[in-house]
Amino acid sequence: MSITRTAVSYYNLGYVEHAEADFREMLDHGCTTVILAVTEFDFDFWRPNIPRIVEAAHRLGLQVLIDPWGIGKFFGGEQVSKFLQDNTGNRQVSALTGEALPYACFNTPSFRDYFARFCLTLAREAGADGFFWDEPHYAFPKSYASITGGAGEDWTCRCPVCMGKFREHYGYEMPKVMNDDVKRFRRREALFILEDTSRRIKELDPAQEITCCVHATLNSYYVTEHRGYDDWDEVAASPYFDVFSTTIVAWNLPRGFFEEITRRTVAAARKYGKQSERWLMGYYRQPEDFAEIDRTVELYESLGVDRLGTWTYRGGYGTVLAAPDALKLWDRIGENYKRVIGKGK
Ligand SMILES: [Zn+2]
Repeated sequence: MSITRTAVSYYNLGYVEHAEADFREMLDHGCTTVILAVTEFDFDFWRPNIPRIVEAAHRLGLQVLIDPWGIGKFFGGEQVSKFLQDNTGNRQVSALTGEALPYACFNTPSFRDYFARFCLTLAREAGADGFFWDEPHYAFPKSYASITGGAGEDWTCRCPVCMGKFREHYGYEMPKVMNDDVKRFRRREALFILEDTSRRIKELDPAQEITCCVHATLNSYYVTEHRGYDDWDEVAASPYFDVFSTTIVAWNLPRGFFEEITRRTVAAARKYGKQSERWLMGYYRQPEDFAEIDRTVELYESLGVDRLGTWTYRGGYGTVLAAPDALKLWDRIGENYKRVIGKGK
């Protein structure tokens, strides 16, 4: 049992020769995989260079996964959404206020088509090894996610499309209070868009590998995120996903939290014959003592995690979300990557 993949995310796609230099630096940091964060703008504007960048990564020996970063604000990420800019409709709607929100409703045919076209076009053109589904989520609630916060009351989505589907399926108007039917409806619809697109990608090329990365929450009696992907069994059981991954945990959260999330991630993945993946926070914040990075990697390793991921290249250096000592953080993560990836060979 050992860690077989070490990934880092990479954005600001543009010039192949610049990406190539960055890929060399990733190799020097023990990375086996680059997760290309392809924004809606990149897709719209830089598309000719995306396959060339993938080719450069392959030439250097990196595996490449494509992350439709922040698409429609359905996935996690800071990027702005062209879909939201170009469409005033097809947005998630607050159950309590009826307001349309700056999040695409991924249950609408319009956004589903947009998402599928984005991914299938890249599956055909880019020549990458697979896709990374990055923190898919409903806009609300998330207050449930906090281990200190209380339960949120508002939720999404009560747009005309969701309300119509709900009525058709359950035979009554979608309530404003989140009952069990609403919970099931939200989860079922949320899974559909990812499964449908994954299936179509694999039909195009069966070798394409899909990682589904959901929020790392306790999902306990007291704390449930209700973002649509809380039932890890449902997600990990999907035949269209190859890797079950759970997101970054902030360095200052208790050790026990890291341990519980990791145990449950590995257990869910193994139960359904999937690879497991856990993440390191390589931007924004850093541990007070960098040795905590070593200890966390050791914990992941000891609990049987198959793959490690880090967000993001160079600790976010140069961005508003850079870690205070971004380059040192990146180096320490790199040292850990090099240590673990040498094992089991
Ligand atoms: Zn909706």
